[in-house]
Amino acid sequence: MSTRKDWDTYFMDIAYMASTRSQCPRRHVGAVLVQGKKLLGTAYNGAPMGVPDCSEAGCMLVEEYEMTNVDGEERMVKKQRCIRTIHAEQNLLLFTDRTDREGSTVYVTDQPCWTCSNMLANSGIKEIVYHRPYPKDADKVMELMQARGIVFRTLERYEPPADTVMNVTD
Ligand SMILES: [Zn+2]
Ligand SMILES: [Zn+2]
Repeated sequence: MSTRKDWDTYFMDIAYMASTRSQCPRRHVGAVLVQGKKLLGTAYNGAPMGVPDCSEAGCMLVEEYEMTNVDGEERMVKKQRCIRTIHAEQNLLLFTDRTDREGSTVYVTDQPCWTCSNMLANSGIKEIVYHRPYPKDADKVMELMQARGIVFRTLERYEPPADTVMNVTD
């Protein structure tokens, strides 16, 4: 049997490699744009260029209430979120061309949030492949992808490369 990696594993590995560039201690997300089998761009979540990032200036935290399942019960829970960074998916869109994106695939380490999904849905891409689930926005994101006819799938038995997964605070 061949030990050669399949394409899904290959591109998700690259997304995880990109995520290691992130300086936000709360979340390390990487994303890559693939057209056919060609890599057209890589991105991670980070502050705009030339602006102090989370490692220098600390996270910029906001508190929000969200519905979370606690011991089998839906409850409102207060959560903190860092808003200093541009999300990996949005950076990926900022650094790639619309014409390159038409019909392409995005590999992203984490299931996209609502805002990123909304932007990706209007970006020309036709497929999103993610690894770690992000349940908060999952229902409305899946509905959106269905409405737009975008393939939205996760990698079930995928294992990220050793030392690309960092422990983050939540
Ligand atoms: Zn941060
Ligand atoms: Zn996002």
